[in-house]
Amino acid sequence: MPSGTRTRASRSLPGPRLDRLYTTLCRRNPGEPEFQQAAHEVLASLAPVLEARPELADPGLIERIAEPERQIIFRVPWQDDSGVPRVHRGFRVEFNSALGPYKGGLRFHPSLNLGIVKFLGFEQTFKNALTGLGIGGGKGGSDFDPHGRSDAEVMRFCQSFMTELHRHLGEHTDIPAGDIGVGGREIGYLFGQYRRITNRWESGTLTGKGREWGGSELRTQATGYGTVLFLAEMLNVRGESLDGQRVTVSGSGNVAIHAIEKAQELGAHVLTAADSGGYVLDEKGMDLPLLKQIKEVERGRIRTYADRRGTSARYVPGGRVWDVPTDVALPCATQNELDAEAATTLLAHGVKAVAEGANMPTTPGAVHLLHRAGVAFGPGKAANAGGVATSVLEMQQNATRQTWPPEETAAKLTAVMRRIHHTCYETADRFGTPGNYVTGANIAAFERLATGMLAQGLV
Ligand code: NDP
Repeated sequence: MPSGTRTRASRSLPGPRLDRLYTTLCRRNPGEPEFQQAAHEVLASLAPVLEARPELADPGLIERIAEPERQIIFRVPWQDDSGVPRVHRGFRVEFNSALGPYKGGLRFHPSLNLGIVKFLGFEQTFKNALTGLGIGGGKGGSDFDPHGRSDAEVMRFCQSFMTELHRHLGEHTDIPAGDIGVGGREIGYLFGQYRRITNRWESGTLTGKGREWGGSELRTQATGYGTVLFLAEMLNVRGESLDGQRVTVSGSGNVAIHAIEKAQELGAHVLTAADSGGYVLDEKGMDLPLLKQIKEVERGRIRTYADRRGTSARYVPGGRVWDVPTDVALPCATQNELDAEAATTLLAHGVKAVAEGANMPTTPGAVHLLHRAGVAFGPGKAANAGGVATSVLEMQQNATRQTWPPEETAAKLTAVMRRIHHTCYETADRFGTPGNYVTGANIAAFERLATGMLAQGLV
């Protein structure tokens, strides 16, 4: 299990106001280390903007940004294939709607709890603000584990989950998408149940749909592709490209597979993929069709890749891809998977860039080490925003009943990733932290969110 979150006691913030605010946040959200960690990272970036723009230091503003507008927890009863009654817990945290309807994915993973959903919803709110698009932030999911479940079991679970969740959704209210454990299959079952209950073809209520029934070209690929496009922009600023670079990737799900695809397209030599059991190292470079066959078609484990690939690949059970010498690291699995120890190893091997495909995969200690060493570091709320940006493209097509060709969507995705990179880069520069994409992303998102909330009376 990933580790590396730090406790409240080990962190302090610049200035008594931010420090007090964080202490209160920890007191009011006990037992939620991931949420506290995500909030700390943002608060730690805000001192320069609060000083330069006193109108954004309005009492109560940051406190409200850190408090979800609504938190929904519900029972999800269903029956497995043997007729055994099961029950799981469902969540939807509607974090902030100042800039548009709540928007953010659903995660099905046994580790999910309210604190993790809140961290994801908080991150999502800032990410969505950073895109410059009209979307607020939310996140949800369940502690249900789809691994090893039949299609019929997943369908019954999704139907039960949507039977409760549907009353909170709507194309102008709250629009979920996928995340860990929720891909095209799950979105299909969820959408079918939403349509059945509401008797409405409201396609803009869920994104990540199949292309034949309201989905967008490239939505599936967008998070992974976008992460690599953001990475390419960071390298470009340093006069480099991905061509010929060694790349290590963690995970082998939606984000990892498409990050590998785009990195290979741009000439990189991708060495690894992983799942929660271990990783594969392929000296010849990852065989993408084989990886897709095992992970997407067969829903198998990553060790099978090494069994079938031949001598160039080996499986390392329980190992971490960060031990493999590389130029670029792409954490694409889950939160806190790249800790200070891993960062030290990456630095010893001369890593140049790290871009987060996953949400908050790098611990604060690791980020600190990477920044100190001058490594280009792209935080998830910027680097993986291509997924949600393409969800908005899907919503635009749904609203106009259009289907755009792949080239059009690809051009828009490239443009949005360039714009996000430029925003982070320029904002970091403007606030005296050149090259620091973390402060750039946090400040730019905060400025937009704060301005919107103040104009609307702080609601
Ligand atoms: P998938 O379910 O498709 O894949 C998740 C991958 O990560 C799997 O290989 C899984 O392995 C691995 N993984 C999950 N949990 C753990 C864990 N605790 N330890 C080690 N490995 C783990 O999810 P996605 O690819 O969609 O999501 C990956 C990350 O990207 C998440 O952080 C998500 O929040 C983020 N993200 C996703 C977006 C999207 O559009 N899908 C958008 C933006 C961010 P195993 O199968 O063994 O569990």
